[in-house]
Amino acid sequence: MTAETRKIRLLMELRSQGITDARVLSAIERTPRELFVADGMQDQAYENTALPIGLGQTISQPIVVAMMTQRLEVGDRMRVLEVGTGSGYQAAILSHLCRRVYTIERHRDLLRLAEEKFKQLGLDNITTRWGDGAKGWPEQAPFDRIIVTAAAIAVPQDLVDQLKDDGLMIVPIGQDTWNQRLLAIRRTGDTIATEAFMDVRFVPLVEGRGDERPRE
Ligand code: SAH
Repeated sequence: MTAETRKIRLLMELRSQGITDARVLSAIERTPRELFVADGMQDQAYENTALPIGLGQTISQPIVVAMMTQRLEVGDRMRVLEVGTGSGYQAAILSHLCRRVYTIERHRDLLRLAEEKFKQLGLDNITTRWGDGAKGWPEQAPFDRIIVTAAAIAVPQDLVDQLKDDGLMIVPIGQDTWNQRLLAIRRTGDTIATEAFMDVRFVPLVEGRGDERPRE
């Protein structure tokens, strides 16, 4: 089976699992996942599974990426903050849907690799930063949308504070890997409405930058 056939099969699977937003499906179709998975994993790039990307981190399962993206309701004039760049795959998808993506990663080596891919694909509306994304990006705040792709124990208040009025954040929350829920958090004035919509398994959101400690 060719990569193109595998991709079409995956898109059909995503559709049958509830991904109905045509803009989201088209952004996924335009983003070559094989470029973002670790070397030697290209064969599995269009399987609906999470895959390793190095330093103990993973590229999320396609259905999870698609659900989070659909639920984020991204408009083409919006500025979106992503916490946890990882491979850069989610950021690349978002770049087709909004005006600008700001993405933060604590592992400098992963960030460098992701930046190369953005360049290779000519995605010039992604701004990257090496740092602790739990603190958000105060200089660029507020954001229309925030997506967190690592699991926190509680919703980071700094991120809530950096949401625009009528802004929306998608974040996995849970005590451990086996007990996490995706939350959709909408800010309307001073009111914060929270809704859980999916069980997930993400790597933990870790405080501080990555290379201040020994390499994992
Ligand atoms: N969105 C990614 C998948 C992310 S995996 C993709 O599409 O491939 C989670 C990532 O979050 C990892 O790369 C991890 O290093 C990063 N991370 C964990 N805690 C972080 C923090 N506090 N700030 C920034 N990045 C963090």
